[in-house]
Amino acid sequence: MTMQGRPLLITDLIDHAAREHFGREIVTRWTDGRVSRSNWGEVGHDARRFAAALTRLGMGKGDRIGTLAMNHGHHLVSWYGTAGMGGILHTINPRLFDDQLVYIINHAEDRLIFVDETFIPIVERLRDQLPSVEHFILFDAPARDGYLSYQDLMDAEDGSFIWAELDERDPMGLCYTSGTTGNPKGVIYEHRSNVIHAITEIQPDVFDLANRSVVLPIVPMFHANSWGVPYAAATVGAKLVFSTVNDAAVLCDLMHQEGVTHSAAVPTVWLAMFAHMDATGMDYGKLKRVLIGGSAAPRSMIERFMRAGVDVGHAWGMTETSPVGTTGKRPWNWDEMSFDEQVDVVSRQGCPPFGVMLRIVDDEDQVLPRDGVTSGRLQCRGPWIIQRYFRADEDATDEDGWFDTGDVAVIHPDGVMQITDRAKDVIKSGGEWISSIELENAAVGAPGVQEAAAVGVFHPKWDERPILLVVPKAGVTVDPTQVQDYLRDKIAKWWMPDEVLIVDSLPHTATGKILKRQIRDDYKDYQLKSISA
Ligand code: ADP
Repeated sequence: MTMQGRPLLITDLIDHAAREHFGREIVTRWTDGRVSRSNWGEVGHDARRFAAALTRLGMGKGDRIGTLAMNHGHHLVSWYGTAGMGGILHTINPRLFDDQLVYIINHAEDRLIFVDETFIPIVERLRDQLPSVEHFILFDAPARDGYLSYQDLMDAEDGSFIWAELDERDPMGLCYTSGTTGNPKGVIYEHRSNVIHAITEIQPDVFDLANRSVVLPIVPMFHANSWGVPYAAATVGAKLVFSTVNDAAVLCDLMHQEGVTHSAAVPTVWLAMFAHMDATGMDYGKLKRVLIGGSAAPRSMIERFMRAGVDVGHAWGMTETSPVGTTGKRPWNWDEMSFDEQVDVVSRQGCPPFGVMLRIVDDEDQVLPRDGVTSGRLQCRGPWIIQRYFRADEDATDEDGWFDTGDVAVIHPDGVMQITDRAKDVIKSGGEWISSIELENAAVGAPGVQEAAAVGVFHPKWDERPILLVVPKAGVTVDPTQVQDYLRDKIAKWWMPDEVLIVDSLPHTATGKILKRQIRDDYKDYQLKSISA
């Protein structure tokens, strides 16, 4: 042995942040408007107090500790503290339906759940169905009947806790997929996988974080660990800014007040931010780079950011990939590209950072060429990609370690990956595939269109034909034929939606994605006018 085999541990990460980035701030804007300030040094100290408090409550290695909480500094402490006592932090998405919440909390067998005051109604509705939970603990309010308080637990500890003996392959995090495509499945993160993911995320072609960065992760801490941002920020000691509310006005103000340079959110959040900026004339402040992912970012959104001088990292990933799988890097010839070419590159989902390997395969699992034309099932492997779901009997990968993502993609000759659809969402017309994502992204560029969803409906000759549901912007009337006219030179002729339907709203998942499954169900018996005529 010639080099030290020191394991990659989250405890070393928080100790590093506390030691090297002591005074760098962690800011929380709470629901009542109060702003509290901590720093990496205090978070490191508080994480030890938190670990001691868990131990005092009888928690031990491998126990699942749940959180039903928005983004804030106490939540951050619980992440590092739980990992430090050997526990597994289970971030629960409070926007799930009640029966999904009951399912995942029982499946995880959470022993404690830390709760924001605002989610007390959820606990009260469900507590009788959650036999494994010994205590509910309020993160942000005093103890009351049926609830302990975070502050009381912390006040009893002095921060002298010695981290548990840990192996880098020990589990430390648990996140359930949002169930867009079925029952939620648990993904267990390990110390090693999360440390490597954190070091990767700061890279220039990924999120480009440094000590001077000020990061506002809008993506919730319960959505694939806020895309790993709270870990990545610790590696370089970036300032973190949290908000417990996701209101566009609050977020825009916070961005300006705290000098936010980096932010991360799903496309629907950015649409709301744009609407607020349009209404108020507010600008982007010091914003330099945004990470957009979770669903495909429309070209018009990317273009708007880029015109304002904000770099866009269009990222693809999933709960099973920790979640960073690819990001839209700037290629070497970026400076020679026209603006339109640059937008083209960023509109695709990008390239994997070192560590992630990608390939596309056909239905016989034959590897397909990277020709930018052939599409196939996207598979990946790497040190932060899932091996096996929590409590499953079998691996989620094939014998060579490839995990099938359920997405359909093409890989371009320059290595850039482009998602064309989820396997379940593709529209199959006359044996050929129409990409619902491309239709939607083109449609969102049409005047007056706020949001769009394309699904296939039955057609006697073509099996399926696309229809497009369109939600107009507030106070705007949209004419279906104008949308079709707008699309005419942007998509292949035979991709043109047979009908454009104007609707008030679209159903969304708990992580803000359009719930295609429900739309498909709602429109499964839809009669195309051209057929019934
Ligand atoms: P769920 O699968 O339950 O929705 P995830 O949040 O893990 O939960 O979602 C991962 C999926 O989101 C991916 O498999 C992909 O279909 C979609 N997705 C994520 N990022 C992008 C992106 N940039 N473009 C298109 N689709 C994306």
